[in-house]
Amino acid sequence: MPGPSARRAETELIMSAKYSFLKGPELRPSGWVRRQLEIQAAGQAGQLDRIWPDVRDSRWVGGDREGWERVPYWLDGFIPLAYLLGDEDMISRAKRYVDAILAGQQSDGWICPNGDTPREKYDMWAVELLSKVLFVYYDLSGDGRVPEAVYRALRNWYEGLRSGSLKLFEWSRSRWFEALVAIRRLKELRGEEPWLLDLARMLREQGLDWGAASKKWDRFYYEWTHDTHIVNVGMCMKASELCADVLGEPPTGEADRLYAILERFHGTPSGAFNGDECLAGRSPIRGFELCSVAELMYSYEWLFALTGRQKWAERLERLAFNALPATLSDDMWTHQYDQMTNQNACVPGHTRSLFGTNGTEANMFGLEPNYGCCTANHGQAWPHFAMSTVMRSRGGLRVVTPVPALASIDFRGTRVELEIGGDYPFDNDITFTVTAGGDTDFALEIPVPGFATRVTVDGRPFDGRLIRRKGFPKGKTVITLGFRTEGRLTRTTGGLYALSAGSLLYALPVRAEKKKYEYVRYGTERKFPYCDYRLYPASDWNFGFDGPRQSFEPVRRARPDVPFSSEDPPLSISVRVAHIDWGLEPGYRYNCAAYPAHTAALDGGQTAEFVPYGCAKLRMTELPLCRRPSKSGAAGADAGTEPPGKEK
Ligand SMILES: [Zn+2]
Repeated sequence: MPGPSARRAETELIMSAKYSFLKGPELRPSGWVRRQLEIQAAGQAGQLDRIWPDVRDSRWVGGDREGWERVPYWLDGFIPLAYLLGDEDMISRAKRYVDAILAGQQSDGWICPNGDTPREKYDMWAVELLSKVLFVYYDLSGDGRVPEAVYRALRNWYEGLRSGSLKLFEWSRSRWFEALVAIRRLKELRGEEPWLLDLARMLREQGLDWGAASKKWDRFYYEWTHDTHIVNVGMCMKASELCADVLGEPPTGEADRLYAILERFHGTPSGAFNGDECLAGRSPIRGFELCSVAELMYSYEWLFALTGRQKWAERLERLAFNALPATLSDDMWTHQYDQMTNQNACVPGHTRSLFGTNGTEANMFGLEPNYGCCTANHGQAWPHFAMSTVMRSRGGLRVVTPVPALASIDFRGTRVELEIGGDYPFDNDITFTVTAGGDTDFALEIPVPGFATRVTVDGRPFDGRLIRRKGFPKGKTVITLGFRTEGRLTRTTGGLYALSAGSLLYALPVRAEKKKYEYVRYGTERKFPYCDYRLYPASDWNFGFDGPRQSFEPVRRARPDVPFSSEDPPLSISVRVAHIDWGLEPGYRYNCAAYPAHTAALDGGQTAEFVPYGCAKLRMTELPLCRRPSKSGAAGADAGTEPPGKEK
């Protein structure tokens, strides 16, 4: 048992994280981020307790439907959504669920509704997830019942694992590290108790070894395993650094190693990794699961907080601005299970699935296409992102992503507010207004994105990567940041290229003909607005980039009510394209082949408006460079491009 000096050292080390998440009312979204959350509240994730049996009638609240991951998954998004919007009705609906969960806790601490399933056969992934979610509730509501309930639930689990009456298997074994979030929070609140650290060590010892598993990540799969499952893979990115932080061990650098493997073998231009639902290589039509996007974002939020390295924040915003909105309908009433980078149709295959281990319906938009995990889990992505845009540093505040937000903290006895104005990433002129209640040595850190060019701060050229101001007088101080983002082509895979400008990926939109499907399956009703949609292509999609040396200039063309509107995209880039010989994937009536047959231009070319990938529900994103005979007779060159996913 450690003595007092060891205890003090561990308490200091857990604070070794570079930044910490703001809590309760300290951070509020504004501008387009708030609007996105309002859309979510009015859509599927905000209404699941009214329309979806697995949440409405869950065993967690005394019903007879699923009593495992779905309610905790849903609450992980619904709780912060309610509090970030300050919506009293949603807050009371969240409390009803938390009340029922806490009321169901047994005298020995066991908290899961295992029903007729013996405890030793109930997969404790539910408690790994729930314990984290209850602290989300605690940090927003201040409900004093929560720390004790989580303490007792984890202690009960710990005793079971120690005695051997409970074991890690299946999901609890793969996702053991998720419990570290609650263990860490308990340690912050109650000081380190030896059993908590023992629990963390026991989980690491008995849980899946992700460092070893990553040796299998250099190929793609058509069979299902835990250690190549794309959601597990997205989640495990944070495991090693989080565990080191909890146990007071030095940082491991493991996340960097895992990221490099995934980017090399499964990377996509939207920042996600192909996996449908196991690691799937880099084909532009293989696709990846929505849960993996949400979980990767959550991992990157933690990795930024723990390491303070800006690359994790930039990877986070790439997912948030591309892969996430692309797979949600404008009204957020429907989502896909799998999105594809080149997605010219969302129509089930007639003979076989396009996907490795997912059914033919996985890329339709609907209530629960393929499987219901994403239905329950996708709602965490936007609220957790909104809660991660500004973090607390030792000296004040750190901007993580400069989207509109209002942060308000007590800094050494002085009230300090930070308002981030502007419309990033749709506009690159951003204002940071600090309002201090008195003279203060508060410090503000603002990153300059690695892709920014012609950067100015307060109207003057700036060539650094971090703006740091320390010391603010009473009253208002305004800092302005402006920069340019240049559109550029990046080589992806198989001779294809993708167009991006800053964090926004651009795609050629394909006009969609929507067909609506309302039906009941396994007692779950699909009914407008939560019905299924098939999207058929209604415009040409078989193009290549007509010339690599174009200048790609993003133009602001709208300020839509829906931030990533498919009807009225906020930005576009004019691009020269030409038709090429690009056929269908063999065996499919609508889906494009992974790669074109030939890249020779078939016509004189035309100008097309590329829009942000997140706006284009049907789209072509990765295109070849058209070949045109040059004057010397050689084929067109592909100069002026760079490989994707460069490590910083
Ligand atoms: Zn899912």
